[in-house]
Amino acid sequence: MPGEPLPLGTLPPVGEIPDTMHAQVIRSERMGRPDTAFRPEVVDVPRPGHGEVLVAVMAAGINFNNVWAARGLPVDVIALRRRAGASEDFHIGGSDASGIVYQVGPGVDDVRVGDEVVIHPGWWEADDRWIADGGDPMVAPSARIWGYDTNFGSFAQFCIAQSHQCLPKPATLSWAEAAASTLVGTTAYRMLFGWPGNVVEPGDVVLVWGGSGGLGAQAIQLVRHAGGVAVAVVSDDERGKFCVDRGAVGYVDRTGFDHWGIPPHWTDADGQRAWQRGVRAFGNAVSDRVGSRVSPKIVFEHPGEATVPTSVYLCAPGGMVVICAGTTGYSATVDLRYHWTRQKRLQGSHGTNDAQAHAYNKLLATGAISPSLGEVATFADIPQIHQRMLEGRLAPGNTAIRIGAGAD
Ligand code: NAP
Repeated sequence: MPGEPLPLGTLPPVGEIPDTMHAQVIRSERMGRPDTAFRPEVVDVPRPGHGEVLVAVMAAGINFNNVWAARGLPVDVIALRRRAGASEDFHIGGSDASGIVYQVGPGVDDVRVGDEVVIHPGWWEADDRWIADGGDPMVAPSARIWGYDTNFGSFAQFCIAQSHQCLPKPATLSWAEAAASTLVGTTAYRMLFGWPGNVVEPGDVVLVWGGSGGLGAQAIQLVRHAGGVAVAVVSDDERGKFCVDRGAVGYVDRTGFDHWGIPPHWTDADGQRAWQRGVRAFGNAVSDRVGSRVSPKIVFEHPGEATVPTSVYLCAPGGMVVICAGTTGYSATVDLRYHWTRQKRLQGSHGTNDAQAHAYNKLLATGAISPSLGEVATFADIPQIHQRMLEGRLAPGNTAIRIGAGAD
């Protein structure tokens, strides 16, 4: 019947576009717990604008960013977009997708209907002056994360992306594998190789927080591939073993330490001494895993408030703490003495540009690294999966959702 969406798991002939689709939708009035913020709804299939493509989603990847979107923290992404002129009063998230191009908008000549693609999450305005002047698009004022900052991400039967976001789907990967790791993998790639002067080189020790998580599992493999030495931080032995299986030389269980969070103020001499005992013991554990007394050249950061003081303290002189998130909070404190006298770099990093995304995709396609697919779930599981991600209860690795794809 016209107007009815197709059942989940089925696809119309390539190029044939239904009027409506199933989507997992967040609305402002439901923001809070992810398991109730998302709800399945039937919405109109969006149409691609200039430079955009409509993709039938075969599989979507789960990321922490839509935990934030569901909670409305630190911002209500719907309200933010509406203030900028958007008409929709809902959010369809999802920043990783594999799928088939069904329609291309005006001005698209790099992607064709029928192409099998993976979508990377770097989104920006084509006429951004910064980009026209040769700047890195992901630093441009218009840069956004697709499927978080923008609407019509991959938690629906169809999504809208800019054509430059499309990467060839690696033929060796299933739809779920191809969708699982693009956001975290490309972000990790930019963090480890995107900041000249501090890129991973053979023999470099890299400390990887959350080694068994989405970002961490990709970072460990990328470090190993570059000839570096990854030490993972985890919260139990099972997660530690997962990291070693992916190429870490060892792991430190962070639950054996208690110096986390904002350190005592420098005027509190006793508190400072206790904090330093804690951070040094943690540093000794890292050296122990490497087998020699060593400071990490690069610290791969994302927990934020709980760990940044430790990261900056432990980082080698001239080294870099590269950070892409503040999962435990944003009010990180740095003891500047260790930062300036040892001339360390605290580098923010966000998303990916096209070149970094293609480089990462090539590593996946050649089998040099694995998407580390963990759990594979269904469209109906999207709310619960985000709730479990918030609570740290997802299986190690990257979770994917089958939408158009059957078991593959
Ligand atoms: P994830 O799969 O949930 O992994 C996060 C890891 O953090 C967990 O494995 C956990 O490992 C560790 N962790 C949790 N609490 C911690 C604490 N108090 N101290 C130290 N480690 C802790 O999430 P993800 O996909 O890797 O993403 C992590 C963060 O990065 C999220 O906030 C996400 O939004 C952000 N992110 C940002 C970008 C960007 O472009 N800016 C891209 C991707 C992700 P253990 O409990 O085993 O230690």
